[in-house]
Amino acid sequence: MPASSMEELVALAKRRGFVFQASEIYGGLQGVYDYGPLGVELKNNLKAAWWRSMVHERDDVEGLDSAILTNPKVLRHSGHEETFSDPLVDCRECKSRWRSDHLNGRCPRCGSADLTPPRPFNLMFKTGIGPVDDGASFAYLRPETAQSIFTNFKNILDATSRRPPFGVAQIGKAFRNEITPRNFVFRVREFEQMELEFFVPPGTDQEWLERWVEERLRWWDAQGVPRERLELLRVPDGERAHYSKATVDLMYPFPHGLEELEGIANRTDFDLGSHTKNQREMAVTAAVSSNDESNARLAVRDDNGWTVPYVIEPSAGVDRGFLAVLNEAYSVERLENGTERTVLRLRAHLAPVKAAVLPLKRNHDGIMARARALKAQLAALGIGRVLFENTGNIGKGYRRHDEVGTPFCVTVDFQTLEDETVTVRDRDTMRQERLNAAALAAYVQERIA
Ligand code: ATP
Repeated sequence: MPASSMEELVALAKRRGFVFQASEIYGGLQGVYDYGPLGVELKNNLKAAWWRSMVHERDDVEGLDSAILTNPKVLRHSGHEETFSDPLVDCRECKSRWRSDHLNGRCPRCGSADLTPPRPFNLMFKTGIGPVDDGASFAYLRPETAQSIFTNFKNILDATSRRPPFGVAQIGKAFRNEITPRNFVFRVREFEQMELEFFVPPGTDQEWLERWVEERLRWWDAQGVPRERLELLRVPDGERAHYSKATVDLMYPFPHGLEELEGIANRTDFDLGSHTKNQREMAVTAAVSSNDESNARLAVRDDNGWTVPYVIEPSAGVDRGFLAVLNEAYSVERLENGTERTVLRLRAHLAPVKAAVLPLKRNHDGIMARARALKAQLAALGIGRVLFENTGNIGKGYRRHDEVGTPFCVTVDFQTLEDETVTVRDRDTMRQERLNAAALAAYVQERIA
């Protein structure tokens, strides 16, 4: 059973070190968060699972890690300077500002209906480049990771001899100056995306779109977000991004409501076309001039001449994924003895801590040494973080690890010193079994992968 409110998740995230407010000791920074000791592990595990399924397990996808600072010309040609905006309204009564498509005609703060007409507010962050602050030398912080996949298209073709269908995957930060960031890490100004640009021959694009929707549902399911919890929203005409011919949003019931977790878009040949020399007619904006143009032809040559591939883009937010995974895993259970336990039933490959080794007695040299050695042995498997935890209170240790989703706790006691067995306790069933220490590594590894 997922969390009953966002507050429950926020409280757990803060208490156990998953997520903190950024710049907190100075009052924070709205729409910006830091991931703490456990949060960074969970987030890294989610990204690694995506990379594994997109790049390592496939034969038709390459990876990329490109810069965040972006030449303004890229985002002029892509149409973002002109159209990447949300409708902004001011409340004349209390002077607050809102995104008009999130309102129902009234100011959420004071209730007044005296709002200005909506006007476009561009969401891109600008920053000065170089030591002269004259406003002319600036770069954008990228609003999506996708653009640099398009601008590197020729480099990647030349370096790999790929031909469509093939894709380029990237995970990285993106920045949007959201008018009203809210709902914890759901809508933030600095976030991470996991994006695939999958280039296909024109005419096969819709079929690939449907294949990617299926594939992405399957992947989320494997991360513990069941497919029956995701609703497909086929975004209607007039509501899609400027580059999209068709978009399917995967909608997840977050604690604050049903909202987009991932968007899968058919971006056609729009982006590669817009970045190609002498293709000004592709551009959505009159602001594009000839001396702004790229020097590249972003197309593929075959027997029939040049073709600009179409592109299908599954674009998932890491932070929204983190929130969905946490929400699905969260559960508060009533135990037979009448007490409650909070447990994160995370898939083992996502768990921030894979196993904790707990010595029964903290001041016993033999037990401590044996526990330390076991921890080192498990850590050497490369399965992720394994903790040696020297608190001496096993019951409390179990509860603490339930709450952060650690799949296994291993207890070393006096009997271990006699017969080389340890107790392994399972997070989900709370069952404990006595195992030979020599079999422990294989036992854990088998259940973590
Ligand atoms: P929304 O309509 O919710 O603002 P969007 O349609 O603008 O989202 P896309 O441009 O499709 O979002 O971005 C792809 C993915 O990036 C989204 O599905 C989401 O997971 C993530 N994302 C976008 N904006 C944010 C944000 N402000 N905070 C966190 N994640 C975001």
